[in-house]
Amino acid sequence: MATETNKQTLPAGRFQAIISHCKEYGFIFPSSEIYDGLQAVYDYGQWGAELKKNIKDYWWKWMTQLQDNIVGIDAAIFMHPTTWKASGHVDGFNDPMIDNKDSKKRYRVDHLIESYTEQLKTEGKEAEADAIISEMEKADAAGDLTALKKLIDDNKIKCPVSGTSNWTDIRQFNLMFSTEFGSTVSSEDENNKVYLRPETAQGIFVNFLNVQKTGRMKIPFGIAQIGKAFRNEIVARQFIFRMREFEQMEMQFFIRPGTQKEWYEYWKQARLKWHLELGVPDTEYRFHDHVKLAHYADAACDIEFNFPIGFKELEGIHSRTDYDLSRHQEFSRKKMQYFDNDVNPETGKPYGNYIPYVIETSIGLDRMFLSMVCAAYTEEDLSTPEKQDSRVVLKFPAKLAPIKLAVFPLLKKDGLPEIAQEIMAQYRGEFKCFYEEKDAIGKRYRRMDALGVPFCITIDHQTKEDGTVTIRHRDSMEQERISIEKIGHIVSQAIS
Ligand code: ATP
Repeated sequence: MATETNKQTLPAGRFQAIISHCKEYGFIFPSSEIYDGLQAVYDYGQWGAELKKNIKDYWWKWMTQLQDNIVGIDAAIFMHPTTWKASGHVDGFNDPMIDNKDSKKRYRVDHLIESYTEQLKTEGKEAEADAIISEMEKADAAGDLTALKKLIDDNKIKCPVSGTSNWTDIRQFNLMFSTEFGSTVSSEDENNKVYLRPETAQGIFVNFLNVQKTGRMKIPFGIAQIGKAFRNEIVARQFIFRMREFEQMEMQFFIRPGTQKEWYEYWKQARLKWHLELGVPDTEYRFHDHVKLAHYADAACDIEFNFPIGFKELEGIHSRTDYDLSRHQEFSRKKMQYFDNDVNPETGKPYGNYIPYVIETSIGLDRMFLSMVCAAYTEEDLSTPEKQDSRVVLKFPAKLAPIKLAVFPLLKKDGLPEIAQEIMAQYRGEFKCFYEEKDAIGKRYRRMDALGVPFCITIDHQTKEDGTVTIRHRDSMEQERISIEKIGHIVSQAIS
């Protein structure tokens, strides 16, 4: 019987183990590694790309296929520069940062204070830590940089590198990347400056009427999008949790003004349910209501996941009011209104023209990937009195697993590889299969466990006689004899 040591490994060690596992098994590599990498940029390897695509498909299908009032788009990364003035990102997409004069290291102020309070908590000073966090949130919400600095000074918070409290003043740092457009312009010409989008949402807002009119959409309706976003994060660490180039899966849901409270609650619950349907225990998720609201929001919360680095934001649900559409109407001088011909029971007349309100659900694809790997990563002790043994297994939900079925001929002879290849040919069009004939079967199983393959089948001499194979289940490691015809049904059922 396997003993699960999953939660017994120390969190910091566990996170390191997961990062190493991702690299060793072809899930994630540091970007341009031969040049020593590029900070906070990562490449997905052969199995990471499959897992990421499966997560994308799961989200996309749920949004655009299982709901009848949500459609998807794919807008460009480059947008007219005025977009970002209208959205408030040019003026307001800042993080307060501070530099330590001795180590020359730069920190995001909230991160610096939070790691100090985490330390206090480990010393049992919970109340003191909570008081500091609450003061920080108040100062942050008010944009009061002096109060934030005072908090750092009063608590004598030190730089983890230099160990000193020799800090600069706090400054605001804009997180957008910019570049120039066209080949003949000077880089100093502000008019030719374009940004790499820091969120995918604006591509949806500027297309709101295009989609509404051409799709004849009736409010309430949603527009979904998956795409790259870029943020020049001040402190980019913690693996793919915080990257400078990442991918978002966002959905903007357009509603009648005044109905935002109900829809906000609706989407909070709907999104949590989406996560829970993947089978991870509900204790791994929690809501966190925002104290500091972004410039566009009248309510906001995060769905946090219990990463090995603690409970952290996985998805944001934001009630964005009519801020974005109103601002685009103002800056573009194009009407962003919707004509609602449903009758208002209070007036007995149609609701008429209005700028819709918006509820946004925004999840980082990379963070979702990380949450799935963290939830799946399991170290098991399989030792018996006779022999020490262990395995690392990724217990992915079958529908997300990068490979669904591994096919092994027991031996490389006696016609067994030919039968295995026939099975490959039969199923590779339906789901991702993997063929392996090297090494002992036990070793092959271990390798497939490390990739999270839910089913392995072995073709042996008995197969030639009665058309049966051994199927081995990843999580229980149980093996059973089934007929070849049953393979497709078992796998399809698990991934549907
Ligand atoms: P954080 O507080 O962690 O910086 P945020 O509140 O700025 O995140 P949003 O602007 O709400 O994030 O973005 C929506 C989602 O995009 C987040 O819930 C997260 O999953 C993802 N995301 C945001 N920034 C990054 C990043 N730098 N790297 C990876 N994913 C990110």
